[in-house]
Amino acid sequence: MNNNTPYIWVDGNIITSDESGCTLLEHGLHYGTGVFEGIRCYPTANGPAIFRLDAHMKRLQAGAEVLGMNIDIHQLSQAALDVLHANQHQSAYIRPIIFYGAGSLGLDVGDQLVTHSVVASMPWKSHLGEAAENKGVWMKTSSVRRVPASSVPPLKLCGTYVNSIIAKREATQAGFEEALFLDPDGRICEATGENVFMVKNGIVTAVEHHDALPGITRDTIISLAQAEVRPVYLKELLNADEVFLTGTSAEVAPVTRIDNTQFEIGPVTRRLQTLYQDLVHGRLPQHTAWLTRVRKWAA
Ligand code: PMP
Repeated sequence: MNNNTPYIWVDGNIITSDESGCTLLEHGLHYGTGVFEGIRCYPTANGPAIFRLDAHMKRLQAGAEVLGMNIDIHQLSQAALDVLHANQHQSAYIRPIIFYGAGSLGLDVGDQLVTHSVVASMPWKSHLGEAAENKGVWMKTSSVRRVPASSVPPLKLCGTYVNSIIAKREATQAGFEEALFLDPDGRICEATGENVFMVKNGIVTAVEHHDALPGITRDTIISLAQAEVRPVYLKELLNADEVFLTGTSAEVAPVTRIDNTQFEIGPVTRRLQTLYQDLVHGRLPQHTAWLTRVRKWAA
C-alpha cells in the first residue's frame, strides 16, 4: 500500500490505493479521455481547508461536458473531503480524475463505456521544486506550440497534457525548469502548468491568451493585486521588472530567467507570495469564503 496515499476514493467508495481493479483496456489509458483537477488543502487555525473547491469543481465539470460525461460535483466535493479525512491529510494536493473505462476501444464515447471517478489526496510540494522558492524559475521559450483552443478547449483534459509534457521536457533537457508557450505572433500564452504575470513600474499584469487554461490561482492573484489583464508580447515580458507564475501547485513562483534574460525576485512578487500564503492558510478574514473546511478529524 502507498504510505503517502493510503486511501483513495473510487466510484463512491474509499478503498486502499492498490485495490482499484482497473483493466489494461481503459479508454482513458489509450486515448487520454479523462478530465482531472489539481486542488490544494492547507492547514488553517480552524483545521484543514480546501482552497477554492467550487471553482475547481466547475472547471472539472466544464471538461467533463466536452467529453460527454455526466458528473456529480457535489458528490466529488464530498469525496475530496472524505479522502482527506481518510488519509488524515492536513496539507495535501487533491487529484480528482474522471475517465472513460472499459467497453470499447473505438473513438465514440458515451454510454458504451464505463465512467470512473477517482479522488486521491497526497502530500505535496511545488512541482517546480526548490527553484520556485529560492533561486526562482528559469524558463525557456518553447519550440512547441500550446494546443490551440480551436482544437481542444483549454481545460484539464488528460490527453492534452502530452503537449505540456513534451514542452517541459525540451526545457528541462536544456537546463531550465519550465517552458514558456508563445503563439505564432510572439504573444505569451502560458507555461506548461502555470499562468504568467509581469510587473512593470509597480503595475501587475496578468497575461491574457485565449489558448491558456483559465487558472484559479491567476484569478485569485488578479483579485488580490487588482491586476490588469491583457495580451503581452515576449518583447514586453523580457522588459518587465518582475515576472512570476501562478498555479495551484506552483502557487506564486518568481521567474528569474527567460532564455538569456535575467530577472530579480522583486518586492511585488514577494508581497504577493506572502499574501497568497496568508490567504490559503485562512489568515485573510475577507477571503474565508474561498476555503472549504474539512470536518474535524474523528477523535
Ligand atoms: N496552465 C496549465 C496548463 C495548468 O495545467 C495549470 C494548473 N492547473 C495552470 C495553468 C494553473 O491553473 P490553476 O491556478 O487553476 O492551478
